[in-house]
Amino acid sequence: MLTNEYLKRVYAQVEKRDGHEPEFLQAVREVFESLELVIDKHPEWEKNALLERFVEPERVIEFRVPWVDDNGNVQVNRGYRVQYNSAIGPYKGGLRFHPSVNLSVIKFLGFEQCLKNSLTTLPMGGGKGGSDFDPKGKSDAEVMRFCQSFMTELYRHIGQFTDTPAGDIGVGGREIGFLFGQYKRIVDQHAAGVLTGKGLTFGGSLARTQATGYGLCYFSAEALKYLANTTYEGKTVVVSGSGNVAQYCAQKVTQLGGKVVAMSDSQGYIYDPNGVDLKKLFDIKQRRRARISVYADEVPGSEYHVGCRDIWNVKCDIAHPCASQNEMDEKGAQALVDNGCMAVFEGANMPLTPEAIAVVQKNGLLYSPGKASNAGGVATSGLEMSQNSIRMSWSFDEVDEKLHGIMKNIYKACYDASVECGKPGDLMLGANVAGFLKIAEAMLAQGVV
Ligand code: NDP
Repeated sequence: MLTNEYLKRVYAQVEKRDGHEPEFLQAVREVFESLELVIDKHPEWEKNALLERFVEPERVIEFRVPWVDDNGNVQVNRGYRVQYNSAIGPYKGGLRFHPSVNLSVIKFLGFEQCLKNSLTTLPMGGGKGGSDFDPKGKSDAEVMRFCQSFMTELYRHIGQFTDTPAGDIGVGGREIGFLFGQYKRIVDQHAAGVLTGKGLTFGGSLARTQATGYGLCYFSAEALKYLANTTYEGKTVVVSGSGNVAQYCAQKVTQLGGKVVAMSDSQGYIYDPNGVDLKKLFDIKQRRRARISVYADEVPGSEYHVGCRDIWNVKCDIAHPCASQNEMDEKGAQALVDNGCMAVFEGANMPLTPEAIAVVQKNGLLYSPGKASNAGGVATSGLEMSQNSIRMSWSFDEVDEKLHGIMKNIYKACYDASVECGKPGDLMLGANVAGFLKIAEAMLAQGVV
């Protein structure tokens, strides 16, 4: 509940203007609730209309993306780029290709991205983009033609000092390659820093593919150590999703001694009491691009269940939601609690509904929001840009070590802010406050812009 008059007033204004954007409202509300604890110390925010400015993206671009499918039919999708806030650096944030993409989703992701990028300590502002295009079931040639058309509009809005997109749901190495190829062709420059998540032969960084999932586990390991005096060793873990973040989260959990017993895609989930065979899973998802149900067809002793939301009924010690926003509701969170789960660390962006967060926190589970625990992806994108600028490539271990250090620092920043707010260990509060304070300071220093 919001009690501060200034926060209430700005939130009411957002509701009035953007009431038709539920995901955006949800993200703003969560952050405002955290800011309640510090707002009295910052009268300058109201004086400078700082929050009014922060809830308004600096620029929203929406565009037509026409392309021709393999049958010669013309298709039209809608493209977006929300350049949310550039106070601490050029806009940075992924592109999502998924049928559920709309302006509300892209604005919430851009808003969250600003706070996340601030937490990494690297000089990156926040942005996000994408399209309602669905790469699933499309041929490589169709994906290429779509990406070329998308970039034919996007190129004029981006640049290494302006806005530097990366991947997200539905945008992996294949799509980034096609997007970069078209950008390079149009501007006639190999400006590698304009996109991150590139292939290793043209400016990509080692460990970027693994970074979000690995970083999630590095962050979670810190929380387990300092808040519960324990580790992943011997823990049973459920990881939702089976895309980039989920795959490398599962791999790092396994390396750290945990056992991943369930994973999902948007159709259903698999349960493997022996621990998910990641070689098999990677083959199904990365090479064959097949449904996760194939896993149960091919691995004796495992089961497939239709319906991805029921994955939270699987008994576990630690849950890593790594699929999409609002994938865990109150019922899912309660099932975890009833089964004795001790921690929920988010890999996806905003995967828990506000009601699910309330259940998790009320029952004393450890909890971290995606904007803190999944920040390893964008942090390593920042490291990719550094390598592009100095025209060098660091080794896998060098990048991984830097990523590990960054995740430890993010944990510490969140924890320290939670202490300052009088709620030690409330990492959601800590992430929102620590992330916002830096942006606020930068915005104030730059005047009314
Ligand atoms: P991928 O496209 O690689 O994988 C997404 C996975 O989630 C797939 O298994 C997909 O299943 C499943 N999924 C997608 N939408 C839904 C849905 N509505 N309900 C249930 N399952 C769904 O994406 P990523 O792994 O890159 O991203 C996953 C999450 O992590 C997103 O929230 C993203 O914003 C966040 N993230 C990603 C980063 C990155 O570096 N990639 C960085 C930081 C955050 P299916 O194949 O059936 O669609």
